[in-house]
Amino acid sequence: AIDFKWIRDNKEAVAANIKNRNSNANLELVLQLYDKMLNLQKEVERLRGERNVVANKMKGKLEPLERQKLIEEGKNLKEGLMALEEDLIKLRDELQGEAQCIPNMTHADVPIGGEDSSKIRNLVGSQHEFKFPVKDHLQLGKELDLFDFDAAAEVSGSKFYYLKNEAVMLEMALINWTLSEVMKRGFTPLTTPEIVRSSVVEKCGFQPRGENTQVYSIEDSDQCLIGTAEIPVGGIHMDSILPESLLPLKYVAFSHCFRTEAGAAGMATRGLYRVHQFSKVEMFILCRGEESDSFHEELIKLEEELFSSLGLHFKTLDMATGDLGAPAYRKFDIEAWMPGLGRYGEISSASNCTDYQSRRLAIRYRPSESQSTTNPKKGKSNLAPTQFVHTLNATACAVPRMLVCLLENYQQEDGSVIIPDPLRPFMGGISHISPK
Ligand code: AMP
Repeated sequence: AIDFKWIRDNKEAVAANIKNRNSNANLELVLQLYDKMLNLQKEVERLRGERNVVANKMKGKLEPLERQKLIEEGKNLKEGLMALEEDLIKLRDELQGEAQCIPNMTHADVPIGGEDSSKIRNLVGSQHEFKFPVKDHLQLGKELDLFDFDAAAEVSGSKFYYLKNEAVMLEMALINWTLSEVMKRGFTPLTTPEIVRSSVVEKCGFQPRGENTQVYSIEDSDQCLIGTAEIPVGGIHMDSILPESLLPLKYVAFSHCFRTEAGAAGMATRGLYRVHQFSKVEMFILCRGEESDSFHEELIKLEEELFSSLGLHFKTLDMATGDLGAPAYRKFDIEAWMPGLGRYGEISSASNCTDYQSRRLAIRYRPSESQSTTNPKKGKSNLAPTQFVHTLNATACAVPRMLVCLLENYQQEDGSVIIPDPLRPFMGGISHISPK
């Protein structure tokens, strides 16, 4: 349920937002199609009314000639109506398709501009000083026999990998430690389907098909591989009205993620940094509208706690308008120091999507009794109108970039890598990775 009336009534603000966010949405076309649809809807209603008038007349006593005339008239009206109803369905589809590209509105504090305009919110820790030449994760992985990119390139293609030996344990440890930490804060754990309907991808605000899509779609089907657990978790309550008492719903989901990385040419693609398949633990919250800003703060704080516990040095950014995905109203990224790569790299992202996804997924809640009124005359309770929930998503642990961080930050002069304390109980007691 995209609110077209709101978009039309706030045309200037929506146009400015589209421009600020570097979006290619065509607002003029959306408004034209919306007007056309309203007119067509009126025409359909008018014809339905006429058809009812004819049907009612047919119920009375009629001369045979008059009856014949009415039958003829009813038939013409029915045919005309069917054609218009078909046009209306096509027009609604076209409108939905175009409107899909219009991004969410933006929080007033979000800096306007491209990636360089993003604002630093927080800086945690400092760059570790190494007294020996640092290696990048690829070299460390080679020397410690932790990955196989060559075999993966033969078996699957470029940007795939096998993890080996302690790297496998480290992946599992990161997942299990993260899940247990986030569950301690009251989140419900989930594993999810990793193939979903394209319509759900679309309703979450992503483009499942087209030239620059990040989504792998399955040939001859209406299904896709998920790029993030946000999609199946977003879909878990679609088409439902939740009781207010159930909110907030907090999930932490483990899944694999699949991304085409279209348009990634020229970006940092070495080793594990940008790959087609990876494991991720993702947090997802459904809440009342007035609470989403504070849950956004809670999520970023939780991410910062997790990465601090692992001893990483990172900065938290309030991402600028040009760098927000269509569903996000505001996005906080965390970039961690990767000494081998010699730069900060994005390790997580937390977005408040307000009602952008819930409108498309049809997830509402019914305010509790206290907010409903009772009509004293009829003694009937008037239920308060339903409202759209707000949705938020945030990375708790995207494994490959965490492996980059841990290997590069915890490397030792003797070529070994130390495992940070919190992960050791999840690694069967392994405390460091040594050359074989
Ligand atoms: P996103 O859902 O795009 O905000 O990504 C969430 C996190 O997943 C990012 O912060 C990265 O840590 C990680 N990530 C995204 N894309 C890739 C990729 N192609 N390869 C490895 N990690 C990725």
